[in-house]
Amino acid sequence: MNIYDPASKKADEFINHEEIVDTLAYANAHRSDRELIEKIIEKAKLRKGLTHREAALLLYCDYEDLNEEIFRLAKEIKKDFYGNRIVLFAPLYLSNYCINGCLYCPYHLKNKTIRRKKLSQDEIREEVIALENLGHKRLAIEAGEDPVNNPIEYILDSIKTIYDVHHKNGDIRRVNVNIAATDIENYKKLKDAGIGTYILFQETYNRSRYEELHPSGPKSDYCYHTEAHDRAMEAGIDDVGLGVLFGLEGFDYEFVGLLMHAEHLEEVFGVGPHTISVPRVCPADDIDPQSFDNSIPDDMFEKIVACIRIAVPYTGMIISTRESQKMRERLLDLGISQISGGSRTSVGGYVKEELPEENSAQFDVSDTRSLDEVLEWLLKLGYLPSFCTACYREGRTGDRFMRLCKAGQIQNCCLPNAIMTLKEYMQDYASEDTYKAAQDVIEEQIEDISNPKVKEIVRERLEKIEQGERDFRF
Ligand code: SF4
Ligand code: SF4
Repeated sequence: MNIYDPASKKADEFINHEEIVDTLAYANAHRSDRELIEKIIEKAKLRKGLTHREAALLLYCDYEDLNEEIFRLAKEIKKDFYGNRIVLFAPLYLSNYCINGCLYCPYHLKNKTIRRKKLSQDEIREEVIALENLGHKRLAIEAGEDPVNNPIEYILDSIKTIYDVHHKNGDIRRVNVNIAATDIENYKKLKDAGIGTYILFQETYNRSRYEELHPSGPKSDYCYHTEAHDRAMEAGIDDVGLGVLFGLEGFDYEFVGLLMHAEHLEEVFGVGPHTISVPRVCPADDIDPQSFDNSIPDDMFEKIVACIRIAVPYTGMIISTRESQKMRERLLDLGISQISGGSRTSVGGYVKEELPEENSAQFDVSDTRSLDEVLEWLLKLGYLPSFCTACYREGRTGDRFMRLCKAGQIQNCCLPNAIMTLKEYMQDYASEDTYKAAQDVIEEQIEDISNPKVKEIVRERLEKIEQGERDFRF
């Protein structure tokens, strides 16, 4: 019996296996129904999103001309909601001690070849100084699950340490947190510590596959993991991020599960996911991606990104340095709004690059360019790199943020903030080539600020930034 209920608080009911199977069967049965697909595309043009069933049909569509329209629409929606802006962040690995048995991750307990490391607060300070020296303002902290080595107190101390480091003109203004599912009490503590988004990847939405891939440790409890975002929101964390690790299960199953999860959050809390991440399984110590037979070809991966962008237009979409420069370039166009740059995926990697035999990294980085090289590349592609962190600091979170975002009004803040934070980067960290490229892009983008008063304020603030003032925001 199909017990699908997006308003339920039970994992098996809001991510319901039978509903996913039915959805895929429905999409397959209608994949040649041109009229229906055209109708869904028309609905998508309203920029209000699609249901998981409608989106699945677009994913399966193999009419070439309609696929072109789907890609075109994804690009338009991206442009409408995000303009040319791309938000930059960096991951910061605190500790790779972990008691879980995830078969796809080199931090799993039984991996005896990986070097285990946990940063002390002094080492975190050094890592943060290194990150601030690159120009980063927004971090995503990562740690394995280990109540002895990485208890919640360690995570809270680390967040405080990060916010307290102000090196030269640098500071970290938003710390997003990517740690294991936990209880409401701990989520409240994270909220009080002033985190930005709480991000937790589902890995796979297929319960039986999930259980195979998580044979041991607390993460093996599928329901506890899947219901974690609900607990985080009940604890008062307004912004939560979803993600699957594509390649563990059929891409279509994951796609539908992901959209159902977004629908559930919207239904229960009135606020959908703040971000959706789309990592793919990639090589790492003691992990062979070939052992997961669900790897996705690049063209299908592009289609997934485009269809998520259309189905959940308001959500930020994140891609990491797991993907190559070429792939990132394609995906930016189709819907990605946030990328990491200059990332180190090893513990302590910003201060000291590891020798191969010292490996403590979670995955191999494909895009190994420095942050400045990534910025120059973005600018030359016509994007406006942004280090903005204003919303959470101005209390624009949760439903307040979503209302502005869905109405397209958030743009009035994003564009000026992007320009001003890029100017800060230029003054403090840019190479000569990046500086010149940024200058041109800023001149162009200022003209796109529609409100003349705001335009004038931005010009005044750019001058003040040149004179040494920092941290202006709308
Ligand atoms: S995915 Fe997370 S929980 Fe699983 S082994 Fe890696 S660090 Fe631990
Ligand atoms: S204004 Fe808000 S939504 Fe826009 S880039 Fe800044 S933090 Fe993000």
